[in-house]
Amino acid sequence: MITVDQALAIVLASVEPLGSESVRIDQALGRVLAEDIVADCDLPPFDRARMDGYALIAADVVDTPATLSLIGEIPAGQSFEGTVSRGNAVKIFTGAPIPLGANAVQKVEVTESDGATVTIKERTEPGQFITPRASEVKSGDTAARKGEAIGPAVMAVLASFGYSSVRVAIQPKIAVISTGSELVEVAQKPVGAQIRNSNTFTIASYASQAGARIEILGIVPDRSEDIVKALEAAASHDLVITSGGVSMGDYDLVKAVLLEMGANVSFDKVSIRPGKPTVFARRERTYFFGLPGNPVSTSVTFNVFVRPAIRKMLGAQKTTLPTVTARASCEIRDGSTRRSYLPARAFISDKQMTAEPLKWGGSSDFVAFMNANGLIVVPEDVHLIPAGSDIELMLLNPF
Ligand code: AMP
Ligand code: MG
Repeated sequence: MITVDQALAIVLASVEPLGSESVRIDQALGRVLAEDIVADCDLPPFDRARMDGYALIAADVVDTPATLSLIGEIPAGQSFEGTVSRGNAVKIFTGAPIPLGANAVQKVEVTESDGATVTIKERTEPGQFITPRASEVKSGDTAARKGEAIGPAVMAVLASFGYSSVRVAIQPKIAVISTGSELVEVAQKPVGAQIRNSNTFTIASYASQAGARIEILGIVPDRSEDIVKALEAAASHDLVITSGGVSMGDYDLVKAVLLEMGANVSFDKVSIRPGKPTVFARRERTYFFGLPGNPVSTSVTFNVFVRPAIRKMLGAQKTTLPTVTARASCEIRDGSTRRSYLPARAFISDKQMTAEPLKWGGSSDFVAFMNANGLIVVPEDVHLIPAGSDIELMLLNPF
């Protein structure tokens, strides 16, 4: 059986970025940059006042109070035509360009003016309250890099450097299919041995958060011909994610159907717990993940294998979820010889990231899993972790 690292390496070596497209800035939130963002101007574009006050020559305000002649004013959006010479000052407002000749600003709070003159009551140093031209960014600098996600703060950068449209990664189109003859739609009341389909919505949500475009293809019963039909219907997508039907039971048909359809199955078992029967396959230009149906197994395998595939398709800089070193809040026992991903609640205690495994009923317990914000990674050969030890924690809600 292949290891988690081997399986992930296969996935990442298989899928490729899908290319780029241009979108308007107001459509770009959450997309991944497919070009470097280059500054087309200095920031600030001129020496800029940081305070409302008076632009002056610092040498005039060594001994205070000092009274200067007022020769004009500069609201934001305007420039001063003249030059400030010794003994003069110009009234200035935050964000306005410093007039020629002036080398400092003194804030209005420590001044007194009668309209014709201004008296400065505090010594003023050269450069005071001036943000020099290009001190933040120089024209031609790269301000944001290809592969970065576009969040609200990146928006300001796009806007300020004139990117009314921007090249972003093409989003993978993903089909989500839930297999299982026991499944009924959310709006239905399950009877007898039925259960409601929840995996579709978990997978679709994770995939959408990872940056993909989702099409929900619903529930498919455990019958080969129905599974074939559903997978055929999904064949125009970049990626198809199924849940259920990959274990060893007589009605676990997903892998057999993939093979029958001529798909190339890269792996169908991984040394991971939960999630051992995870399937990864390809047919023509479509990739398939067959995830196990138990809802926690579905979530774990999505985050460990599928999310990186989506991020790679998006050309993202980082494909896997980040892991940090945390402290075990209690003793952890794990009999498995596979690598375990234990749902955990991480919190800060004494300035130290601490993780506590959830009390849960196993990989069907999706209600307990709601409280997980991380997965404790227990290596294959570790079976007992004493309380207080360092552990590896995969963060489910990355920054
Ligand atoms: P399977 O992987 O098909 O053997 O399913 C394992 C367990 O997960 C069974 O108890 C299923 O009822 C449950 N399960 C499978 N698919 C879903 C789904 N879409 N939503 C919720 N539970 C599911
Ligand atoms: Mg099933």
